[in-house]
Amino acid sequence: MPWMQGYPYYLLMGSVLSLYMSVKSYRRRSNAGGRYLWILMLLVSVMFISTAGEVIAPTLQAKLWWKNVQQPPLFLSTILTYAVVKEYVSQSSEGLARRLALFCIPVVFYLGLIFTDSYHQLMRSSIGIVTVAGVSGVAVHPEPLSMMLIAYDQLIGLYAVYLLAASLRSSPKPYFWPHLLLLASLSIPVVFSFLLPLLKIEITGFTAFTYFPPMVAAYFLLLRDPRIAIYPTAKNTIFENMKDGILLTDHHDNIIVANEAAEAMLSTLTGGQGNGWMGRNIYSLLEYYGEIAVHYARRMEGQFEIDASGTDEIWYGVSLIATERSVAEDAGMLIVLSDLSEKKRYERELLYQATVDDLTGLYNRRHFMRLVQHHLADNGGGVALLLFDIDDFKLINDTYGHIAGDKALMDFAQKMLNVYCDSGITGRVGGEEFAVFFAAGGEAAALQEAEHFRITMGSHTVRLDGGHQIRLTVSIGVAYTERRDATFEELYRQADDALYISKSTGKNKVTLGRPPVWREALKG
Ligand code: GH3
Ligand code: MG
Ligand code: MG
Repeated sequence: MPWMQGYPYYLLMGSVLSLYMSVKSYRRRSNAGGRYLWILMLLVSVMFISTAGEVIAPTLQAKLWWKNVQQPPLFLSTILTYAVVKEYVSQSSEGLARRLALFCIPVVFYLGLIFTDSYHQLMRSSIGIVTVAGVSGVAVHPEPLSMMLIAYDQLIGLYAVYLLAASLRSSPKPYFWPHLLLLASLSIPVVFSFLLPLLKIEITGFTAFTYFPPMVAAYFLLLRDPRIAIYPTAKNTIFENMKDGILLTDHHDNIIVANEAAEAMLSTLTGGQGNGWMGRNIYSLLEYYGEIAVHYARRMEGQFEIDASGTDEIWYGVSLIATERSVAEDAGMLIVLSDLSEKKRYERELLYQATVDDLTGLYNRRHFMRLVQHHLADNGGGVALLLFDIDDFKLINDTYGHIAGDKALMDFAQKMLNVYCDSGITGRVGGEEFAVFFAAGGEAAALQEAEHFRITMGSHTVRLDGGHQIRLTVSIGVAYTERRDATFEELYRQADDALYISKSTGKNKVTLGRPPVWREALKG
């Protein structure tokens, strides 16, 4: 065949192109799969050049030398193919180097035998020159030991193809076709390693050509295609820059992955002790968080909130996520830490706004009512509700202005807080109406308490802006009950009716309200 006369040149060209791709790939070796791809390309380049050497060399001795040079790349390329695929599909090269070293042991053994004159015959017999289609190379007859090693190599190649095929199912949609193309091209050398002996193709150096399509495919798909190239790199960047802390533990409960945010959060949790959480046991942290530790130990998923600073300032959300679908105690666990401080602050703010009156700082009407209802439900009777209404307050507003009125209200509330802060629940239930609820020993005690406040308030001087000094008097309605099933509404009505009596009979007074039955009886 005339075109076969250019065969050595094709081999040289293959070698140069593979070398070129190898150099280019070296620069992009941080891409997933890229760590070993450049080495594979380099091996293919050596495979081409040494085949060219074998074809061109004039003597059997020289040809044999070149053939031996071919052996390392020939055998190692399947292992490297496995490495590229494995790193690409699992997006990680953890533990891979050690596995590769193990895989290489039989190959090193084989190469050792080939290059040792005395054991050479264990591997090969009947060496001679054979010319096929005008190309003359060395033909060797492999011995069983050699065939076993070839089979071993083929199996690794098959496994690599299987790994890639299995990953196709979980390929993100846009990557499906590139992945399929990569798979198809990677299958070529593996399939041909079986086909060459079957089809009796004996052209020297054919194997090198079978590696060429996958090299080109891997070069363009893994390294040059921006979509594919950016996929793992972007994922890493996102991971490192995430606001959430990500921790992954292995089945020994050691932290094997921790992003920057996680490191920072763990250091906050432990009061700044110790950096470098990688490799440390997660229980050194979880021992302080019993419930989370129990969930973790059982590999149960769950979400928790923890006060990281102990001062309510820094809150972290902790999500436990199982890494295996079935709950297995020998599996690792994914722990996601998120900073909830801002959310908590906002919640506190909302809670404050929803429960506290901004002018006076007392509970607002709704929250006061809710607290009293809870108290009644939990403890029942033996309680008093006092309703206060400042006398002639409109006059204060009219005389000194609304702002002065506000000041007087604040002053009144402060007085209430001073008197009842430890003993009762205080609230602002209307414009200039206030209430206090407390446990009382009886009607007389409740009345005495109200009288005490009335006198205290009446003798208290409120200082307004502009040097004005005023005194506030207050009318009070008292409700007292010993009933366990008393409701807030009943008590309030009772106190309000009593307050009305205080107002209508001269103000600055305390009146005890009567329960509804009494009222009915009095009317009758
Ligand atoms: P009485 O002795 O009968 O209770 O007379 P009063 O003037 O206190 O009663 P009234 O209920 O008629 O008036 C209450 C006044 O309280 C009317 C309103 O302008 C004033 N007020 C209500 N809320 C506020 C407030 O937040 N700030 C100020 N400055 N005044 C308020
Ligand atoms: Mg009023
Ligand atoms: Mg009033």
